[in-house]
Amino acid sequence: MNDVSEGIVLSSRDYREKDTLISVLTKEFGRISLVAKGTMSVHSKNAPACLPFTSSEFCFDYKETKTVFPLKTARINNSRRHVREDLDLLNFAGLLCELTEKISDQGVVEDELYRNLECALNTLYEDKYLSVCLFLSFVCRLIGIEPVVDECVLCGSTQVSSISIREGGFVCQHCRPKVHAYACTLEDLIHFRLLNKASFEHFELLKEKGPFTLNDVTTMIDFLVHHAGIRLHSWNWIRSLMD
Ligand SMILES: [Zn+2]
Repeated sequence: MNDVSEGIVLSSRDYREKDTLISVLTKEFGRISLVAKGTMSVHSKNAPACLPFTSSEFCFDYKETKTVFPLKTARINNSRRHVREDLDLLNFAGLLCELTEKISDQGVVEDELYRNLECALNTLYEDKYLSVCLFLSFVCRLIGIEPVVDECVLCGSTQVSSISIREGGFVCQHCRPKVHAYACTLEDLIHFRLLNKASFEHFELLKEKGPFTLNDVTTMIDFLVHHAGIRLHSWNWIRSLMD
């Protein structure tokens, strides 16, 4: 009774009149859904704590056999208002949360995922491309599809010249004509290698190696989408705004 868990709101949708159904990645219980009653009403006390990308403390009665719970109360720990005030950041926060929702299982505790999502949302306003790339690199490692970035994925040569998404990493000049590979600059290769070796503890260090760009994000997402088969609506949306 009255279980309390810290959680990050991944998404929110209308649910019956004046209620919302929110998807939350909690520290203690993994990803769950909460029915937040009355949060569409202007008088709701819980509404601000139930907004997407917010970290809050949620109180509800947990039962092991269930994944949807009526929310009792919610209190904000971190509203991430700066994310909500910038359309670009809002879109990328949506991407991080959609990806988290797709790779997490309901009711399974995922400490690493929780920590990395929190880091990504907290650093988004500092350097959005780097932040998103580091989260993508973490996800690739988590689901076991990290690219080969020390040598040519086909012949093992260290004289690499390009990235082949389909083959799974770096390719050399010799192997490149045999496969479909990106046209890469030396900087693209260095960024791809750094990002796939690094984690959020290297954020400050990597910031100095930048600037990281949307091009870096695109390569990382192409890799993830190709090898994990995940469809990301928020990425299609971001792309459509760029065209
Ligand atoms: Zn090769």
